[in-house]
Amino acid sequence: MQVALLSDIHSNSEALAAIDPWLDGVDEIFVLGDVIGYGADPALCLAWVIRRHSTCLLGNHDAACTGALPLSWFSPQARRAVEWTRQQISSSLLSFLEYLPQYIDRLGALWVHGSPRNPLEEYISNRSVAGRIFTSHDFSLCFYGHTHVAEAYVLERNRLTHKQLNQGGEIHLEEDRRYLINCGSVGQPRDGNPQASFGLLDTERKTVRVVRVDYDQQQAASKILQAGLPEVLAYRLFEGF
Ligand code: ZN
Repeated sequence: MQVALLSDIHSNSEALAAIDPWLDGVDEIFVLGDVIGYGADPALCLAWVIRRHSTCLLGNHDAACTGALPLSWFSPQARRAVEWTRQQISSSLLSFLEYLPQYIDRLGALWVHGSPRNPLEEYISNRSVAGRIFTSHDFSLCFYGHTHVAEAYVLERNRLTHKQLNQGGEIHLEEDRRYLINCGSVGQPRDGNPQASFGLLDTERKTVRVVRVDYDQQQAASKILQAGLPEVLAYRLFEGF
């Protein structure tokens, strides 16, 4: 079975369009939350997720739009984008967000937006957080997003290693190891590489491949500026931070 892993699309329809042709042969698409927020095309991105019959998780920006997470949690720029996004999406798209789960346990993996401990808020942003999650939660494979950084933490017996995936790469899943894997952000990468990022899981070959794809950042940034959203949300797309 071929599974696509997309996270943190963040209303970036240009990045999504660049990835779309890669997904024609896949059996299932998982979206690990934050379909919306930051970018200028929330309705288009939500419609894509629904049209593609994706298995979708709730992210913190999605939860902010429905009111499930308070706006005080967010930075001023993110808050401004949430308020703008709420005006752009229909009530039926909003109700799609309201019913999204925070955890999925399928295909031998745990799927979350932030972390298994706190799926909407916690960032797995360093080795010590990853280590504590391996200790506190019983999983062999966990896919997450939220940090917008493509990387993996691997636990073999008591040895924890880290693998950067910001230029893409492949991991072979071994029986005697445990994995925390982030396939990066589709629509707002923050790992130093501005290319759109996503993952492909092959359940027979037991591999996870992170793919980086060029897309039209200029168009995505122009739309953000035209919408009157904070300028930093446009410029950061070129930097990948
Ligand atoms: Zn995000």
